[in-house]
Amino acid sequence: MGSFGALVKNILFPKRCIYCGRVQGFAPVCVCADSLERCRLIGHAVRADADGRPLRFLKGIVGCYWYRDPIRRGIHRMKFAGAKNSATLFGQEMAQTVRRALPGVRFDAVVPVPSTRRELRERGYDVPLLMAREIASALEIPLWDDILIKSGETRRQHTLSKEERRENLKNVFAVQDAQRLRRKRILLCDDVSTTGTTLEECARPLKRAGAAEVWGVVLACTPRG
Ligand SMILES: [Zn+2]
Repeated sequence: MGSFGALVKNILFPKRCIYCGRVQGFAPVCVCADSLERCRLIGHAVRADADGRPLRFLKGIVGCYWYRDPIRRGIHRMKFAGAKNSATLFGQEMAQTVRRALPGVRFDAVVPVPSTRRELRERGYDVPLLMAREIASALEIPLWDDILIKSGETRRQHTLSKEERRENLKNVFAVQDAQRLRRKRILLCDDVSTTGTTLEECARPLKRAGAAEVWGVVLACTPRG
């Protein structure tokens, strides 16, 4: 009866590959899995921005994958095609990667990179927040989703040059309740890091408020050099 139920469920609500969106049927993994392994970044913590300059406010950025297909497609589906559940799965993977990349490092809280109101309106859900919630639960640490705020609506980052990105984000992130941050080790979470600018600009007020260390974790990083 159990397997009959599973069969009916599979016909009514077919499972789709979280990367390419192809209907999976009963196959446990899609053909995407092969190319997925090739972009994996095991235990990799980036210490420089996309131009090779050392990070100023972040201690490092942990990435699970390079931003290439099928990861790129999966992120696109998650952000623009309503594949909200992918954020949960990706968040679990990010937590595992943090454990592998930074063994023994104990974080005091996970902080999501704040989304703009426009992003929330368009999507109806907050991708970094969904990921951060999973990471917090997997690493058994608090989620601080109210400590970092975005004070202005910014232009879309991916339409800008590197210099414009930096200018666009300067001082738009601010901290509330700075007392809480003193001497804390914070894990900042976002879906993608292209230049490292967004994470750095989020880390800036956290560090200024007294955080001891700020690390970033992303599902995917743009290949450097
Ligand atoms: Zn696939």
